Formats: sequence, C-alpha cells, structure tokens
Amino acid sequence: MTTTSQHSGIPTGKEAREIDAVVVGAGLAGLHMLHKLRELGLSVQVYEAGGGLGGTWYWNRYPGARVDVKSMYYNYSFDPELEQEWEWTEKLPPQPELLRYINHVADRFDLRKDVQLRTRVTSAVYDDAAARWRITTDRGDAVSARFAIMATGCLSAPKMVEIPGIETFRGRSFHTGNWPEQDVDFTGRRVAVIGTGSSGVQVIPLVAEAAAALTVFQRTANYVLPAGNHAIDPEFQRDIKSRYREVRKANRESSFGIARPVATTGALEVSEDERNAFYRSVWEDKDSELVSMLTGYTDTLTDEVANETAAQFIRDRIAEIVSDPAVARLLQPSGLFGVKRPVLGTNYYETYNRDDVRLVDAAATPLTAVTASGLETTHESFEFDDIIYATGYDAMTGALAAIDIRGRGGASLREKWADGPVTYLGLAVAGFPNLFTITGPGSPSVLSNMAVSIEQHVDWITDAIEVMRSAGVTTMEAESDAEQEWTRHVGEAGDMTLYPKVDSWYVGSNVPGKPRVMYAYIGGVGAYREKCDQVAADGYDGFTLTQ
Ligand code: NAP
Repeated sequence: MTTTSQHSGIPTGKEAREIDAVVVGAGLAGLHMLHKLRELGLSVQVYEAGGGLGGTWYWNRYPGARVDVKSMYYNYSFDPELEQEWEWTEKLPPQPELLRYINHVADRFDLRKDVQLRTRVTSAVYDDAAARWRITTDRGDAVSARFAIMATGCLSAPKMVEIPGIETFRGRSFHTGNWPEQDVDFTGRRVAVIGTGSSGVQVIPLVAEAAAALTVFQRTANYVLPAGNHAIDPEFQRDIKSRYREVRKANRESSFGIARPVATTGALEVSEDERNAFYRSVWEDKDSELVSMLTGYTDTLTDEVANETAAQFIRDRIAEIVSDPAVARLLQPSGLFGVKRPVLGTNYYETYNRDDVRLVDAAATPLTAVTASGLETTHESFEFDDIIYATGYDAMTGALAAIDIRGRGGASLREKWADGPVTYLGLAVAGFPNLFTITGPGSPSVLSNMAVSIEQHVDWITDAIEVMRSAGVTTMEAESDAEQEWTRHVGEAGDMTLYPKVDSWYVGSNVPGKPRVMYAYIGGVGAYREKCDQVAADGYDGFTLTQ
C-alpha cells in the first residue's frame, strides 16, 4: 500500500446529485452490492438497462434457458434465513424460477427503491479534483459518487453475426441474450437458429417442438453433455441446507466454485476401460455437475492426448444417439474438449432425429447474407418466418466498453484496454480510483460458478470501502506495477492450459478485431480468493490509498 495526500471536496457540476456510490447493473452482482453498501450506511443508486431486475436472468428468457450449475450452489449465501426459506424445484433451475428468486431477494431486502430501471449508463467520468465519479445515463440522469461499481455482467453485450442485411429481414428476429418480455409463439413457423453454443443448445430442442420446421446453422460443433436435469430431490435439498456453511466453504475453496473431489490421477495413467467407465458414469449420472467431466483427471485441461480420450468418448455417444450418420458426423466436434465453455443440453442430439429439423454446415457453406425473406449461404437460399441469433456476446469487456469510462486526466478505459484488459485482480484498474469491476476481466468469473465469484467480489469491495472509511481514506487505486504483474500472471496461468489453443469467447476470438488474450483467470477460485484476502490483509498491497 502507498499512501499520499490529496486535496478533495470540490463539487462536480451543479446539477449532479451527490451520493456515495453508483452501481451499474441490477443482476445478482448489482443487487448484492446494493444490499451490502446499504448495510454500511452508504447512499447508493443502481442503474439498470433492463425493464426488470435480474441481469442475465432478465434478458435470457428464451425457451429452455436455465443455469448450468445446481440450484443449491447457484444462489446467495449472505443471509442464512434466505438460503433456508427459499425452496428450489429443479436440479438446474430454469430462467423463470431464477427470476422469481432474484425478485424475492429484492423484496425481502427492500432493494427496489434504489434501482432505476430502463436506464443505461452512458458515461462515468472521474473528477480528479473532487475525487468523485460523475455518472450520466441515457435518460439524462447525472450523479456524482465517491465509488463507481460496475456490476455490468460478463455476458451481457449481445453479439450479432457479421453478415449484411440483418435489418432487411421482414420476419421476426431474436437474440437469445435480448429476448422479449412477452411469450414468443413459434407454432407453425419456419425458424432458423444461428449458433450452437450454450444458448443455441438450450433453445434448439424447444423451438423444434413448437415450430413447423427448424433449420440450425452450425459453424463449430460443440461437445454437449447431458444436463440430467430433474425435479430436485427433497432429501438432497434438506441435506445441503442442514450443512450449508460447510458446503459454501468447500465451494469457495474449490477450483471452479463447485466443490469436487480433487483428481490425483492423469487420464493416461489408467486403462482405457477404467477411463471410459469414469466418463460413462459422468454421462449417465443425473446428479453430475457441469465440470464433472473436466475434473476427474488431473490432465484433461493441460494435455492434448488426455483431453482426446474424453473428446472421443463424447463423439461415440453422439454417433449412438443421432440416427443419420452424416448428421452425426457433422455434430461430432473435432477440437479439444472443455476448453470452450462446456455445454449442457437436454434432448439436444436427439432433436436432430426429427424429420422437421435440418442441420446446415455453416463452416463448409458460410452464411453470406440476411435477406428480406430469410438467409443465404454460399450454396443456398432459405426462407424463414423467424431467425434466432444464438450468436453469443462480446464477453467480459463488451459491457464495460459500451460505457465511456474515463479515469484520471480523462484517460479512456476503452483506449487503455485496446490491446486487452489490464486489471489488478480483475477488481480494479490503475488510473481509475474507486472504480471496481465485479467479476471483471482477470478474475475467475466465467471460469467459475458465478454466484460464488460474485459474492467474493462484493464482500471484498465492501470490506475495502469499510476499511477506507474507518481510516479516513478518500481513494483506493490499483498501482500500475501490481496491475501489470497480475495481468501477466493471468496470461501465464492461461498458457499453462489448453485454453489459448482453441478459438472461443474465453480468448475473445468470437469478436473480430478483439485482442486475443485470456480474459478470465484460470488459477482457481480458492487460490484466487486467498490472493485477494492476502492483498487486503497486507493493507491493500498493490493499491495506493489516498487520504
Ligand atoms: P457462444 O458460446 O459464443 O456461441 C455462439 C454461437 O454462434 C457459436 O456456435 C458460434 O459459432 C455461432 N456463430 C457466431 N457467428 C456465426 C456465424 N456468422 N455463422 C454461424 N454461426 C455463428 O454464445 P452463447 O451460446 O450465447 O453462450 C455464451 C456463454 O453464455 C456460454 O458459453 C455460457 O458461459 C453462457 N451461457 C450459459 C448458459 C447456461 O448456464 N446454461 C446458457 C447460455 C449461455 P463458432 O463457435 O464457430 O464461433
């Protein structure tokens, strides 16, 4: 920690309402942050672009949307009564249930009064002299706040395809990450889905059931594991609730935010039979986790030969499920397994056995245009009533870059991150005092159970603000050296794995021109938490605190 002294207190702009903190976003992160800051006695304004609370779970209303992490582990742990009173109904809760939960939390803790909906923050500009952030919105709001906390989400800036004519389509267009509030009926319609990531894999089976005909445009096949979703076992729910403190602790100390037995053996150290028996047990176990296939052996994510054993097991299952061998071949991924985000599906491969579902190879015959009546590839014209874009996000940095964030001396965050995000712990940025990014780039975030990582950041930020207040500190700012070193470490940790070898949004390759770096920290949730706690225990080592 470095301490300096600085004059402060110059008011910022006449019309700006002065408050203690602005939180951008009212999803799981923003709402929790609001609650914690209020407990500290701070005045807080939350701005939320959506028409309701919930962030991801407000926007992703497409049929089939559900979280990939068990309900009992994907929820807030901050209030023992809340975690006891809420009853989950499914192993992997669907979007409507998650939204009900989030709204229940908002009511229970009276959070709504500090949230302004349908309001997009457009700029956040730091006033050096006043040591305050001036925040403006698309609705003309202007506030001046000591703290600016970005709870903008990692997957909240939807990305469309880079093909011309999108606006010319006369039918209905949807992006899975920006789904309408009203129910959408696909009965009797000819529907296209572009994209076969987590969103596409969830939406495809349900749209297929409703539509007259569904055409799926797949550019890269994904490894899709059976979700094994089912009604929650009441005994399981009771058991977890009876030992929630211990369960939470184990999740926090784990690699991915979901406690798993620690692997001790490499996949190549056991016989093929033993390996396949393990893979089959995960495939068939209705209680397995998103990460179960990744965490059984020590080397799945680090050794290509080991990785291939899991990959081949899944390819074999695809061939068993899909009756047309040509379609099965197209659905069988050729690349590494698990270094793109693992995908869980329900009836996904089975859906391709329907007569009214067609799979188009958008790698061999790429999409070239959206037309008034449908889509064109290099080989064919298609007519559709509806197009669903399941084409993903400008992940990790997209939502932050959408805001004009300017720190000391008017320096732009977008420009600072032109070659990739540079952060200290994924929490803070040099030159941007008192600005915190919840699950920001350079933290485990998307490589973890988000509920665990969000709470860790919210708690860390709350503690930091509390310490600042009691020590009479006005600003906390990441130091450039610490930030450089951390960012280098994030990259090196990624390089020790197979992640950088594959194109994915984890490395930014889905957005043309986006720097190819590792956007999340793969060092593990538990180790990362220890590092953050140590930084705090050492008096915020790597931060400059100014009186
Ligand atoms: P995504 O994983 O980035 O998938 C986007 C898909 O669109 C890919 O299949 C991509 O193909 C395809 N695509 C993009 N441009 C295309 C084009 N011009 N032609 C054909 N295909 C094109 O996005 P996502 O499915 O929305 O998922 C993003 C992340 O959100 C997930 O990885 C996950 O972390 C999260 N998520 C989670 C859940 C859950 O918990 N269940 C559900 C949904 C999303 P290429 O692969 O060839 O680029």
